[in-house]
Amino acid sequence: MSITVHQFACLDDNYGYLVRDDASGLAAAIDTPDADAVLKAVKDTGWRLALILNTHWHPDHAGGNAAVKAATGCEIVGPQEVTRIAPLDRQVGEGDEVKLGETLFRVIDTGGHTLGHISYYDAKDRTVFVGDTLFALGCGRLFEGTAAQMWGSLSKLAALPDDTTVYCAHEYTASNARFALSVDQAPALKTRADQIFAARARGEWTVPTTIGAEKATNPFLRAPVLRPDLSPAEAFGAVRAAKDDFKG
Ligand code: ZN
Ligand code: FE
Repeated sequence: MSITVHQFACLDDNYGYLVRDDASGLAAAIDTPDADAVLKAVKDTGWRLALILNTHWHPDHAGGNAAVKAATGCEIVGPQEVTRIAPLDRQVGEGDEVKLGETLFRVIDTGGHTLGHISYYDAKDRTVFVGDTLFALGCGRLFEGTAAQMWGSLSKLAALPDDTTVYCAHEYTASNARFALSVDQAPALKTRADQIFAARARGEWTVPTTIGAEKATNPFLRAPVLRPDLSPAEAFGAVRAAKDDFKG
């Protein structure tokens, strides 16, 4: 048996996810960007919500926790930092395992966007939920962590198998592509950017992505190639700083 993912758009540019363990029928919400949207997804799918799996404390990720728990009785799992805005039933960190029926999610510490940001990796189904750490052609801003910390986090994700499906929390891909084209002339990036602009013009989603596609074209993962004059972490920091200043 495996998992089924239900993806929905909410707020301005967030993606919410319900993931169901097909063997047990139990479902988890990856973050709670918008309680009404999460509860509508639960209703639409008819799935039994057992868990909320938080990636980090930002309100567009944990802001709906209390309302979703009140409506469903689900348990809330997340990194300690989430308690800044809502209580947790279980606190998890690097290497911990979270069970949803027969599905196992391994917690990967991916701090940098926030200090305690985590990702949830289901090795059997080659699926990872990365919150605001890795985006299609982008990565999260460094609100709390350092470039070295974020580079370490991105390197852990890049070490997952190439065919791992990556579910990120925002549709930022077109603007990420405009920045990427400004720092990287790789033909594979140009091809992908053209596909992304066309998909967005048709109103299509560009998420999920894969580890392989990001390793090939994401300028943040390619930072050591783009800036061979620097150490990998410094190269990443330089690309991140350029994105922060980019007016595209
Ligand atoms: Zn965030
Ligand atoms: Fe976010």
